[in-house]
Amino acid sequence: MQQEYQKSPQALYEGKASRLFEVEGHPELLIIERKDDITKQDGEVRDQIEGKGSYTNRISNVLFRLLQTKDIPTHYVQELSANETLIARTEPLMAEVIVRNIATGSLCKRLPFEDGTALDHPLVEFDYKSDEYHDPLINEDHAILLGVVKDYHEYDQVSKMALGVNAALRSFFQDIGIILVDFKLEFGRLPDGQIVVIDEISPDTCRLWDAKTRQSLDKDIFRKGGGNEATADAYREIFDRLADGPDPADEAGDASTSDGE
Ligand code: 5GP
Repeated sequence: MQQEYQKSPQALYEGKASRLFEVEGHPELLIIERKDDITKQDGEVRDQIEGKGSYTNRISNVLFRLLQTKDIPTHYVQELSANETLIARTEPLMAEVIVRNIATGSLCKRLPFEDGTALDHPLVEFDYKSDEYHDPLINEDHAILLGVVKDYHEYDQVSKMALGVNAALRSFFQDIGIILVDFKLEFGRLPDGQIVVIDEISPDTCRLWDAKTRQSLDKDIFRKGGGNEATADAYREIFDRLADGPDPADEAGDASTSDGE
């Protein structure tokens, strides 16, 4: 039987797309509630898309369960409702780790890569997580000197985890007719020091293109002024394709990874 988890009355933290709550009697856990809010330009432009929080929550949970079947640790514990998920409490690393398979977006503004061309191998980038500094690209030395990671070994470990996530997601999306162009990951440290994937993986944080048409099915629609309805349609399309695709829990051949939804 599903245990009841009681949210604290006040949010511990409120971000652009989610709120975090403590869980009564479980200091090691948090509840993340995904909001319908959508933002661009470092939060300067804000709007709401009804139902977005439930799409990003449920899409992210499918993908986190997939990673767990591939032995990539995440903070995911259990989906509690359409827009709430129980997660392990971690200390976040102050980095956004970007993995790219196709050159587009900020990469093509910074460097002479041709927009839309496949990269010969996946590119991993670390951005310092800071709206004030506009999430600047950093290298290993910056990451260590700024305390984002402890040392070179940990930087390498996070990079390898990000590539592992890319390999798992890329083939999963390919099977449902979607190209994983690029995405952003966040990482956190559990009390025992283990580094796990945190936050979310969803059309808010990934570029996802339809394999046949190469049309965006992600937040780029909103970023480029395509409107709320078109954005919601794209998120629904990703959710429907995931729901019709293989269940990640089956990939491990282990029903115990399912949380019984
Ligand atoms: P770019 O650096 O080209 O703008 O973004 C690369 C990838 O990372 C895209 O899939 C984009 O959605 C994701 N990404 C980068 N920074 C952020 C961010 O601050 N918030 C979100 N939601 N996604 C980001």
